[in-house]
Amino acid sequence: MKTVLMDYHVHTALCGHAVGQLEDYIQAAARMGLRELGFNDHAPMFKARDPELTMAPEQLPEYVERVRALQEKHSQPRIKLGIEADFVPGHEEQLRRLLGQYQFDYVYGSVHIIGDWRFDDSRLYPEGYEERDRDEAYHEYFSLIRLSARSGLFDVLGHLDLIKKFDYWPRGEIGHLLEETVQAIAAADVCVEVNTSGLRRPCAEIYPGKKILQLCHRYGVPITLGSDAHSPKEVGMDFDKAVKLLRDVGYTQVATFSGRVRELVDL
Ligand code: ZN
Ligand code: FE
Ligand code: FE
Repeated sequence: MKTVLMDYHVHTALCGHAVGQLEDYIQAAARMGLRELGFNDHAPMFKARDPELTMAPEQLPEYVERVRALQEKHSQPRIKLGIEADFVPGHEEQLRRLLGQYQFDYVYGSVHIIGDWRFDDSRLYPEGYEERDRDEAYHEYFSLIRLSARSGLFDVLGHLDLIKKFDYWPRGEIGHLLEETVQAIAAADVCVEVNTSGLRRPCAEIYPGKKILQLCHRYGVPITLGSDAHSPKEVGMDFDKAVKLLRDVGYTQVATFSGRVRELVDL
C-alpha cells in the first residue's frame, strides 16, 4: 500500500522542548516520501509563559521567516507554515490578533490546559489527576474542545482526545458526550487531526481513538495527519497505522491546507 501523505504536526527547537534543525525534519520527511511537511510549533501563550513549553512572542516573526525561507527552498516535500495554539477561554481576541499578523497555511487549536491544570505536561504529572473525578475531567475537556471548535479561530483541532494521554480513561459511558462533541465540530466545519504521538504515550493509542474517528466519519468531519514530532526521527512515525485506522473507519480522503484554505486529496 503506497500512500503519499503529509505530516502537519512538526515542532521546532524554538518551543524549548524539541530537538534538531528544521532542515533535519525536512530531510526525514523527504526520505519517507511525504508530500507535505507542516511546521506547527507551539504559539506563545498569554498566561503562564514557560520557555520550555512555547516560543516567546518576540520569536514568532523569526519562526515565520525561517519556515517561509524553507518553503522557497524546498518543493519535495512542500513546506507548510502552521502553528499550534493553545485554546484558553477568555484569550480568544488576543489570539485572534496575534495570529492575524501572519499568513499561516493552517492554524491548529489544542487543549492542553483545563482551568489551571496542565494535564498534558509530563513534568507535572501526576499533579491534578488524583483530586479529580475522571468523568468530570472528560466532560470539562470536551466542553473546551467544543468551545475551541466554535471559536472560529482554528482550521484543525489537534489530538482530539489528549485527555487520555497518561492512560486516563473515563469510568462511565461517554458515548453521548463524544457524539455531542463531534456534532459541534461538524457544525463548525473544522478539521480533526489524526495524531500518532498517542502511540508513544502511556495511553498507547492514536489520538483520537477509533470510536471518535467513526463519529467524525459519520458526521463528515475532514481529517488531517500529524506525528507531533519533537525530533526529526519522529516525523511520519506510525503513519502506516494511522492510514490503516482511517481506512478501517471509511476515510478515503485527507485535508490539505494552503493559506488557510482546505482541500481534500485522496488518501
Ligand atoms: Zn510540544
Ligand atoms: Fe499539542
Ligand atoms: Fe504538538
